[in-house]
Amino acid sequence: VKKIDIHCHADMYTKTELEAIFADKEYIVVGAATGYDSGNRLLDLAQTYPNLRVCLGIHPEMPQRFSDFDRVAAQIEEHRHRIVAIGEVGMPWYCLKKMESRQKEALTKRADELLKRFVGLARKTQLPVILHAIEGTASIALDQLIENGISKALFHWFEGNQADLERIIDNGYCVSISPDILHNRQYADFTDNIPLEILTLESDGPWEYGGVRGVPSMIEGTAAYLAEKRHLPPESILTASYTNSMNLFGKEALGTDL
Ligand SMILES: [Zn+2]
Repeated sequence: VKKIDIHCHADMYTKTELEAIFADKEYIVVGAATGYDSGNRLLDLAQTYPNLRVCLGIHPEMPQRFSDFDRVAAQIEEHRHRIVAIGEVGMPWYCLKKMESRQKEALTKRADELLKRFVGLARKTQLPVILHAIEGTASIALDQLIENGISKALFHWFEGNQADLERIIDNGYCVSISPDILHNRQYADFTDNIPLEILTLESDGPWEYGGVRGVPSMIEGTAAYLAEKRHLPPESILTASYTNSMNLFGKEALGTDL
């Protein structure tokens, strides 16, 4: 079975970790940038590791980087044909928690404007969008995607509400499931509602799960768990995830290294 980790912060690994990850030639890893320097590192790494794919963007939980939009937009245009998507972009959620309401409002407004600019760029460059839009923020991202006629998007580690999930399904967008399902029963049960037709797998590595640094091969544990939970053959989840990832990025962009 061919395997794709559809959302991973590959630029955050050490050289030793990268060597181990890419020693397994069965894997394609889609690296999501958190900002301009992160994107440059991913572009560099892709020259060393041919199974690494690159997305460029600004992480929405890092407002100190929002003012880098012009640089990142130029980076996206310059490397248009070396990248597979715009990401990670979206709306802040976790970083709002420490803020008072006026601050929250101001940042939400800035993030909404920034996302609009990235969605506009996605329309212009015809690239898919990798979104961090969890909990209640997914509806903001959905409105923007739909208004701009964006047909290819991924809601990574989506744990929102059922109404937003239905809009994701109706518009043919994808959702990726993280290894957190092995540690969080509520999340695992929420993923029961994600149909096989839009399901993909991610590590979000090196994000830690139960104290262990996330790596792409963790998608296999997720796939095995989901297959058992859904009473499906063991390989069916990996196969569906592979097919859906191909459809999201396009075979040409994702390549035939496998
Ligand atoms: Zn991420």
